[in-house]
Amino acid sequence: MSIRDNVEYINNSKRLAAERNGRTGEEILLIAVTKLHSPDEINEAIDAGITDIGENKVQEILDKYERVKPVKWHLIGHLQRNKVKYIIDKVDLIHSVDSFRLAQEIEKQASQHNRIIDVLIQVNPAGEESKFGIDPTDIDELIDQVRNNCPHVRIRGIMSIAPFFDDAEDCRPVFKQVKDIYDKYKDIHDDRIDFKYLSMGMSHDFEVAIEEGSNCIRVGTAIFGNRDYRSEEM
Ligand SMILES: *Cc1c(COP(=O)(O)O)cnc(C)c1O
Repeated sequence: MSIRDNVEYINNSKRLAAERNGRTGEEILLIAVTKLHSPDEINEAIDAGITDIGENKVQEILDKYERVKPVKWHLIGHLQRNKVKYIIDKVDLIHSVDSFRLAQEIEKQASQHNRIIDVLIQVNPAGEESKFGIDPTDIDELIDQVRNNCPHVRIRGIMSIAPFFDDAEDCRPVFKQVKDIYDKYKDIHDDRIDFKYLSMGMSHDFEVAIEEGSNCIRVGTAIFGNRDYRSEEM
């Protein structure tokens, strides 16, 4: 199957899952996750209709930025504070804000560039040690801190990575829990908090995520095939 075929296939599955949840396919944003894939492959996906791409490493964004056709860039992986300055003028949405210190650095860089940066708060609902993201009980405090101290940071929603289960059905309770967190804030629309994205669902679990209310899925493998972690150079 070509990248184009895969994009079509995912768009179709996305639509069917959305309809099971009383929505339309257009209401769900598909982000193609391009980590470890080449600019040529990414451009092929863009030609197939992809409008948004996700990378989890700052370095990969910098390496590919000039070689990829116009597209929206999402930073979906853990972001180190000392690297914020490199991507502040390149990314449209940072999905992985999980501490006030990171938000403060984004604030500093965004104000220097005289722009407002859209971010999501990454929550770690299952409390997995190995994963980044804030504990659900700390979300209210983080949102208050960002809201009161970071005028150049606009909170646009919540992101989460479900634990891996062989059966994606097992992710359902986690997705439900994250949706409840999202719903607490979804009706606030001011210049600091303006919820639009519930970013959850990856290749193996996006249909369950959509059924539970996700409106933003991050899909890599199902579009580009397996990633070759041995050849990390581009
Ligand atoms: C790699 C990655 C994805 C995509 O995973 P696939 O299983 O390849 O679809 C989604 N979200 C994040 C944060 C990732 O790092």
